[in-house]
Amino acid sequence: MSLVTRFAPSPTGYLHVGGARTALYSWLYAKKFGGTFILRIEDTDLERSNQASVDAILEGMQWLGLAHDDGPYYQTQRFDLYKEVVAQLLAEGKAYKCFCTMEEVDAMREAQMAAGLKPKYNGMWRDRTDHPQDKPYVIRFKNPQDGVVVIDDMIKGRIEIANAELDDLIIARSDGTPTYNLTVVVDDWKMGVTHVIRGDDHINNTPRQMNILAALGADIPKYAHVPMILGDDGKRLSKRHGAVSVMQYRDNGFLPEALLNYLVRLGWSHGDQEIFSKADLIELFDLTGCNRAPSAFNTDKLIWLNQHYMKTLPAEQVAAQLAWHVTEQKLDISQGPALTELIAVQAERVKTLKELVEVSRYFYEDFTDFEENAAKKHLRPVAAEPLALVQQKLAELADWQPEPIHAAINAAAEQLGLGMGKVGMPLRVAVTGGGNSPALDHTLALLGKTRSLARIAKALDFIAERAAASE
Ligand code: GLU
Repeated sequence: MSLVTRFAPSPTGYLHVGGARTALYSWLYAKKFGGTFILRIEDTDLERSNQASVDAILEGMQWLGLAHDDGPYYQTQRFDLYKEVVAQLLAEGKAYKCFCTMEEVDAMREAQMAAGLKPKYNGMWRDRTDHPQDKPYVIRFKNPQDGVVVIDDMIKGRIEIANAELDDLIIARSDGTPTYNLTVVVDDWKMGVTHVIRGDDHINNTPRQMNILAALGADIPKYAHVPMILGDDGKRLSKRHGAVSVMQYRDNGFLPEALLNYLVRLGWSHGDQEIFSKADLIELFDLTGCNRAPSAFNTDKLIWLNQHYMKTLPAEQVAAQLAWHVTEQKLDISQGPALTELIAVQAERVKTLKELVEVSRYFYEDFTDFEENAAKKHLRPVAAEPLALVQQKLAELADWQPEPIHAAINAAAEQLGLGMGKVGMPLRVAVTGGGNSPALDHTLALLGKTRSLARIAKALDFIAERAAASE
């Protein structure tokens, strides 16, 4: 029998990192065993679901590279099937009509709470046949009253729940629409899901779902409940902690490879290995290596991984992601070096792709002003002579490559008996406008000869004007 997993998001918002991690685990598990990964959109809550959220989830999954093998299925398109199953359960006496009014249910609950009991439906219509005509009713599942449900959870271990704890769950509302637990059960059954990997916020639903599956004569899948993700303050990760949406991480300049690597390690480990390619993960990932306890989100570690992948992935792959930021920040890359060349000099100097674009503008467009502090410090009258000399030596270069550029800068410094910094810093501020840039030889090579010399001339003018003004 082939292995089937699914990711079953409710489209009530963006794809958040918790959901993405569950999706990743489900995806990996299917890939590992050559199985099928299904995407199922649980959109039956018509008030909270919307198309924008569906699109956001699909976009997030695509950006992460978690392609589904089957689907996407939409539960709203499967109502006929759910109704059939409800009718079947009813016909087989495994479900029943309950004619309780809201007031009756409320009164039941209050009475139980007043008696210090856990509130639950008391089964008052379970065995009744005196059904009123023309009265609204819901349909409830006849949960077994004795025995225990055992979840052999692949992450949490064995969990036992007494059936006495569970009441008769509503599986169809008075308007005939199926409820959440029913649709999940029908789909997991009909889709042949063998492994349900989901957040542990669903663990209370599991024994109920297992009972319904058993009543349907369906195979019970294996369950793996993934502990939640906490923020750095130990509270459940939420918007308060900053970015929780997967696409927000894209916007903030992270590579999908970094986020995936980060998410997989958040709750799973393999010895002390930190870096995992997708291929590594497909080979090494296992649910048995997952933590039982919640894990805390750690942005510094994500940044560290992002830096690793910016430096080590093929530059073309990084460039494909960088291109989005270039467009976003309206940088005209036809005016400067190719993105792969830019990555080669900048990747190790920044934390994110967003920052990489931010600090690279001078490669593509002229700046109007030098950064104030850098200019104050490095574009002073004493810098005029070395700058003019290096300008002259650079102008003579026929081969505009890092090596000869480097030699020209060195020669100027030597000729004046100055340390490299005395030549290099004014030159850096001259050509980039500020005091931070990759190595000068590479920076100038990428800027090109014309642009570099024009900027040095501009800096010399600036120094002259400043000297004149202070006289
Ligand atoms: N639709 C549920 C959610 O988004 C997941 C249900 C499941 O995985 O069984 O929380």
